[in-house]
Amino acid sequence: MDEADVRDRLRTVEDPDLGEDIVSLELVNDVTVDGETAHVSLALGAPYAPHETQIADRVREVLAEDGLDAELSARVDDDLSHDEQVLPGVKNVIAVASGKGGVGKSTIAVNLAAGLSKLGARVGLFDADIYGPNVPRMVAADEHPRATEDEKLVPPEQFGLKLMSMAFLVGEDDPVIWRGPMVHKVLTQLWEDVEWGQLDYMVVDLPPGTGDTQLTLLQSVPVTGAVIVTTPQEVALDDARKGLEMFGKHDTPVLGIAENMSTFRCPDCGSEHDIFGRGGGAKFADEHDMPFLGSIPIDPAVRTGSDDGQPIVLDEDSETGDAFRILTENVANNVGILNRRKQR
Ligand code: ADP
Repeated sequence: MDEADVRDRLRTVEDPDLGEDIVSLELVNDVTVDGETAHVSLALGAPYAPHETQIADRVREVLAEDGLDAELSARVDDDLSHDEQVLPGVKNVIAVASGKGGVGKSTIAVNLAAGLSKLGARVGLFDADIYGPNVPRMVAADEHPRATEDEKLVPPEQFGLKLMSMAFLVGEDDPVIWRGPMVHKVLTQLWEDVEWGQLDYMVVDLPPGTGDTQLTLLQSVPVTGAVIVTTPQEVALDDARKGLEMFGKHDTPVLGIAENMSTFRCPDCGSEHDIFGRGGGAKFADEHDMPFLGSIPIDPAVRTGSDDGQPIVLDEDSETGDAFRILTENVANNVGILNRRKQR
């Protein structure tokens, strides 16, 4: 078997999302054959996304049928050189946004980050909600960042997540009343002067709405895609629409819609009550032709988990934990789809 034979074989590996084989989709970068070993570099950019793991497994299987051991590596090409990049060590930036407050955006950001880390990825969680930074409490982070000699900040870690939050700098209780230029300055420092290291995903918890933080982030950081969190109600959906427009203006892809507080699982009677309606998020996603990432029920354990600093996604026995795990996988799969589409 030589390189051409290997490429030929890889034409039998279908992309589970894009409906073509990985060679036609230009997802095979380089192939070298060295005796019994085939070194294959694949253009896969969403580490631990189940569909990308599936592609890699399939490549190994197909080559094994020809007696080859596959040594796989992953690399996606982008247009920028390393020096030009903001956050050069970060593969994917996922912004979690909502039109209004109180819909569970921070809860989703924290559980998404912890869920990705649980899958095995290297994850950072950046609490950019400068007006109400509550992420440290939600993961029980009591350590503060350390400063290095050259005045960089080393983010503390919790559940394997590297954390940065305005709460570390100003305290959770101080209401921060800042104007645009201040917001811009502090946020910029939080990604330029922090030693994030190598990350597969950075999850950014944005403040609600469409203000200065969103503008700064979208103008300065290469955001891979946004997750828009909404409740099923019509009002919340109207606000979500404004979020969509904002990301559209900045050419930032939307990874999909996450519906929170979809239904209430009553711990006493066992039945489900649709307090805020049902299916609004899925309908909204459908109407705007974007992925629906999943729905999270109202579950008192979500709130107590947040208050106690134990993200429920880490609770193996919880059904609501399952809902968050599905959401996490869908987000990762959609990051993968965006990256793989860009290869052609
Ligand atoms: P946002 O970031 O949109 O302002 P939060 O994530 O801070 O919203 O959530 C607001 C409150 O609702 C918090 O007390 C949180 O614990 C609670 N909460 C969020 N999602 C759920 C849920 N699915 N079930 C129960 N409580 C929830």
